[in-house]
Amino acid sequence: MRRSSFIPFLFVLPLLACGEKPAAPPASTVSPAVVIDGAQIWDGTGNPPVQDAILVVKDDRIEAVGARGAVSVPAGAKTVSGKGKTLIPGLINMHGHLGMTKGLKMAPENYSKENILAQLKQYARYGVTTVLSLGTDFEPMFELRGPARAEEAPRATVFTAGRGFTGKHGYPAVLPGNAGIPREVDSLEEVKAQVEELAKQKVDMVKIWVDDHLGRYPKIRPELYRAIIEEAHKHNLRVMAHLFYLEDAKKLVEAGLDGMAHSVRDHEVDEALIKALKAKKAFAVATLTREESTFVYAEPPAFLEDPFFNRWVAPEVIATLKEPAYGKKIKSDPDFLKYPKQLKMGQKNLKKLWDAGVKIAFGTDTGPPGRFQGYFEHRELELMVQAGLTPAQALQTATLNAAGCLGISRDFGTLERGKRADLILLDADPLEDILNTRKISQVWIGGREVN
Ligand SMILES: [Zn+2]
Repeated sequence: MRRSSFIPFLFVLPLLACGEKPAAPPASTVSPAVVIDGAQIWDGTGNPPVQDAILVVKDDRIEAVGARGAVSVPAGAKTVSGKGKTLIPGLINMHGHLGMTKGLKMAPENYSKENILAQLKQYARYGVTTVLSLGTDFEPMFELRGPARAEEAPRATVFTAGRGFTGKHGYPAVLPGNAGIPREVDSLEEVKAQVEELAKQKVDMVKIWVDDHLGRYPKIRPELYRAIIEEAHKHNLRVMAHLFYLEDAKKLVEAGLDGMAHSVRDHEVDEALIKALKAKKAFAVATLTREESTFVYAEPPAFLEDPFFNRWVAPEVIATLKEPAYGKKIKSDPDFLKYPKQLKMGQKNLKKLWDAGVKIAFGTDTGPPGRFQGYFEHRELELMVQAGLTPAQALQTATLNAAGCLGISRDFGTLERGKRADLILLDADPLEDILNTRKISQVWIGGREVN
């Protein structure tokens, strides 16, 4: 259905003439295998977890995985004890933003290679091993996309939607620090030319914002978003939309939208939307932490004291979030009282869509100020479980489902032979308590340990 811009490293064996000696193999192929020994393995495929299991990593891939006795352990391998621990696939976030924010400020000048890489490392520390950056990217994103290069330190693999679309003077172009980011289109000719540009960039997704932001801005016209979806599909590109209203969701899915980038938050989803989502095989991403971030700083939230949060967040950022002035600013938003209800609606709709059999993929909308990359992904899982998903279901959205919806299942999303070794080793069982995803012992991305 789409082309992937990510070309996996395939093993290419040179053909040797008779008697010719093989050249010395590249350094990476002589590195010893790593064996994670004795963990419970939840592989993300939907199979039940395997106790006392073995997983063998060779180079950037999973060479073998299964129950003890069913897996042969290579000689000379480095062994990591997994006793009492649980191994799960790395988390895949289908809705993030990179490079926009420094501290609590969003500004165009923040957008640099250095800032993007720092944020990809931040995701990595928390076991978010893959992220789709959704609609706010320029150069140098196109040179960084994909997995970390061999000469780079391990960091999250990044996919990109380039610059997304909005209408003339539409949201979020008007937000401070956002001017010039989305493509503001006003005609079918502009749509055609700009989708072509995205196709040339081989973006991994196309993003559209369809929102008046509670009546504050003009919304992109339906004929324009229909044309974006149509043109994108001609180029084999898929489309995700920022949306808020049930009516827009229905029209977008009817027009062929591939994925909703947020929950419907004005009404409960109805049978018509559910039917359309299933008929069109479209997916939904909830971004519950995005909703929470709109009101949670009214008073300093408890997580500011959580070491899992504050060991990786700058002290001055935490100090600012604790200042009464910060809370006052949050509460002065005229729509402040609506926001907790929007979170509740998002949670209700998530459960309703899941139960109806709509494909749910994981996404948080982290990256803008106050939406902390890494930490918020774990909070998102918690909010999904609060909404009524089981821990295994919540984890499925962030592994198997996200990889499927992003079109990267061949290499990502589950712990199976031949797939990338993107792994999180946990000190406690997340299937028993989703908060245990925070008890990270070790993270590997492409077989390399994240420090
Ligand atoms: Zn977003």
